[in-house]
Amino acid sequence: MSTSNDLKLVLGLEIHLHLRTNNKMFCRCPADIYDASPNTHTCPVCLGLPGALPVPNYDAIEKAQLLGLALHCELNKNSKFDRKHYFYPDLAKGYQISQYKEPFCIGGWIELDNGKKMEIERIHLEEDTAKSFHQGGKTLIDFNKSGMPLVEIVTKPVFNSVEDAAEFCKKVQTTVRFLGIGDVDMEKGQMRLEANISLRTPEMEKRGELPKYKVEIKNINSFRFMEKAVLAEIERQTEIINGGGIVKQENRGYNEATAKTVPQRDKEEAHDYRYFPEPDIPPMVFDDAHIEKLKSRMVELPEEVVARYTKLGIPMKTANAVVFAFGPETSKKLDSIINSGVTAEKAANTLVNKKEYQSLSVEEFISKLKSEDDKITDPEKIKEFAKSAILKNIKAVEDYKNGSTASVEFLVGMIMRESKGKAEAEVARKILTELLQS
Ligand SMILES: [Zn+2]
Repeated sequence: MSTSNDLKLVLGLEIHLHLRTNNKMFCRCPADIYDASPNTHTCPVCLGLPGALPVPNYDAIEKAQLLGLALHCELNKNSKFDRKHYFYPDLAKGYQISQYKEPFCIGGWIELDNGKKMEIERIHLEEDTAKSFHQGGKTLIDFNKSGMPLVEIVTKPVFNSVEDAAEFCKKVQTTVRFLGIGDVDMEKGQMRLEANISLRTPEMEKRGELPKYKVEIKNINSFRFMEKAVLAEIERQTEIINGGGIVKQENRGYNEATAKTVPQRDKEEAHDYRYFPEPDIPPMVFDDAHIEKLKSRMVELPEEVVARYTKLGIPMKTANAVVFAFGPETSKKLDSIINSGVTAEKAANTLVNKKEYQSLSVEEFISKLKSEDDKITDPEKIKEFAKSAILKNIKAVEDYKNGSTASVEFLVGMIMRESKGKAEAEVARKILTELLQS
């Protein structure tokens, strides 16, 4: 992306997502918090009471590692949890259990449609914080979200367009859904984005030199919101740099009403968090057998499904729509329909383009498609039925000539009866009207 002064965008992503597990990350509280009343899914551990001991959720760890494998990461055989310290009302114990030096997954990449491989720095697992609300001058806190298993994917600062960043996020979301490890519904806060944004000159880009600052846009909860926020921030930084100023390293949020970014809590450097190993959870060691077992759980991934569909003759655009716009449920449905003998392209096109088919079960879909197939749409054949109906119903024709429009519908009914309901009614009505007027 070029800006007015030909400055180039440098963007890195931090993607947070909730895993679908029965329990929270370090306690046995149920994790079905999304429609629950405030503070009903809590215990001493996730309330951060002194002396409460965390026990890691093994299912969450395996799911984070599975995501790592799907995104071509290397799994760390030695891993551990660390404490990340900061003060905030939604973090009652004064630190968050996260991972610093030895995350579960390192490296990895996602390939975009344009063939670019966008590199991932790391994937780690942590606990989510509580949620605060500001109401009538008071701050209320709901601890249901506290301790929810939260995966964080950190990319390298490899994006130079917001479109690429949005596509990357969409691919992460779809991969998580195909793996069946999370619902990642952004409206429910199950997936949240942060974008680190800075600008550099074309010369810096050529030298591979990164800017000395970055501005972090926090709390992005939709892809559309991300595009707007990033574009607004590019504009702001361009103005500062072109005016001879220096962009301050800080956290900012996006205000939709003003279409501008605004400063938030100051960015803390990594050492400010005073990370140290979580003393209540021993370090973890994973052997080859564990990793092999995880690999055997791997499913067909979104790009693989698209490749299979295109081999079956489904156009790329339609295949992408099934996988990325509709998701795994629709993809499974399409597979069943194809397995029942419907040609792949026809099944996919109908599923993507015809709304009335989308909520049908596989059986209903096939039977509706079959009855559509039996429909007579050939105008010549319908004309034969129409001529016959006119000859047999002289009275209705006379009524029509005397101004009765209802007699057209009567004659269409006759055509439907003679064709045993197979004539396409719209075509029949059109041909009939033409014949009556000639
Ligand atoms: Zn709990």
